[in-house]
Amino acid sequence: MYQRYHLRTSLAPEIAPFPNRTRVKVKRPGLAAHLVEELIRYRRNPEVALSRPCVYGVFSGPVGGFAPRNDSCVGCLRCTIEYPEMVQVYPNPEHKHLGDSYFTPEHVDTLCYEARTGRIPVKGAGYRGPFGGEGWNGMWTDMSEIVRPTRDGIHGREFISTAVDIGQKPPFLTFYEQGAATGESVRTFSLPIPVLFDVPPASVLSPTFIQILLAAAQEAETLLVLPVRILQRFRIQGPQIVPLVGHEDADALTELRFVPPMIELDGWNEALLREVRTRFAENTICLRHALVSTEELLKHYQAGIRVFHLVADYHGRGRDGRFVLDLIREAHRAFVEAGCRDAVTLLGSGGIIAAEHLPKAIICGLDAVALDTPLLVALQAEFLGECPDRERSRFRLPRRLTVNWGVQRVENLLASWRDQLLEVLGAMGLREVRRLRGEIGRAMFQSDLEREAFSGIEGYDH
Ligand code: SF4
Repeated sequence: MYQRYHLRTSLAPEIAPFPNRTRVKVKRPGLAAHLVEELIRYRRNPEVALSRPCVYGVFSGPVGGFAPRNDSCVGCLRCTIEYPEMVQVYPNPEHKHLGDSYFTPEHVDTLCYEARTGRIPVKGAGYRGPFGGEGWNGMWTDMSEIVRPTRDGIHGREFISTAVDIGQKPPFLTFYEQGAATGESVRTFSLPIPVLFDVPPASVLSPTFIQILLAAAQEAETLLVLPVRILQRFRIQGPQIVPLVGHEDADALTELRFVPPMIELDGWNEALLREVRTRFAENTICLRHALVSTEELLKHYQAGIRVFHLVADYHGRGRDGRFVLDLIREAHRAFVEAGCRDAVTLLGSGGIIAAEHLPKAIICGLDAVALDTPLLVALQAEFLGECPDRERSRFRLPRRLTVNWGVQRVENLLASWRDQLLEVLGAMGLREVRRLRGEIGRAMFQSDLEREAFSGIEGYDH
């Protein structure tokens, strides 16, 4: 029976201390005088008097504003605007240490809100961030095609599909006279959301963490990429797992006790590809590849690879230092120019850390995204220093991590990101995410616009 795809959200508050963005400092003599005045004025309602001057309850603790509840502060600044002589609001220095230079404290804040509530973060006072900048900030999605206000996937009036197909998709089929197909056949499977889970870093591997990812992948009906050695070590199996195999792991494949939907090769190795093809003739084979030269990708396409998992570092940089946005566009364009883009599936990882990056990465040319650091942040992992490198970066998960809590946090995150993807699709009048792939006409790039507007003008330096 048809069932509409649904992610189950529910509140999952933080289990480890989470520093608030702001810290409130109060001049106590001033506050005492203010309270006395308020108590006299509102003597019939001490509750009102004691809640002043903050409606969010920062001053409503057992000893009132003498020990402000910083965790409740939303940073609206009303208190300091109304009573500048008594209250000051400062940035919390502990908050600045969240994440690293790429996964900024603001990104961590937003992502934790999404993982806690499963909802879309709404800034009531409007957007206060930059309107351009480096990386993904230099790309804007064009929402001017708001032609179908009823096409609203979140509120369920008209369905927008977020399903994607992964696998071998020949552009056309040819047949023998008897009716049998002569060449490549269609060999795909679908995921209800364009999101997979990528290999987690070694520093956080534990039975609980793996169980969380596995159960969350099952709930969300998506896939989890795990090295085949890890499958052996933790004795895990399941149809949600995509084994990642290096040339030294080929023998471990014989011990698999389940049929995986896809097998991922860790780098190009012809002998390994032959062996995997022999053992798993019916399975989809994916090549994990650093985001570098497009000639190599086309060479692997000629060798029969139809699914590519393009990987940048955690800061979204390819091996040559270029940003993932440009590298995805280049890979997509190379397949388009070779006339085979529709025959391949492009997955991508690295530097995709916010809900808006998902539709942007798809517009640049990916079919689906495999999440890495966002899953760690959803589970309140601490970054131990700068974490660009996939092998060497270190993270620490909270001690009180439990499977139920972790699964709910990941599911909330996916629900929030999916809703935001639906917002983008709805605003563009698209009714399936498949049509967003490579739709570069739906985006504007700051560098292009600036070049168009300013090139030839003295002082313009692109
Ligand atoms: S900034 Fe806003 S939320 Fe924070 S203490 Fe002041 S009034 Fe309350």
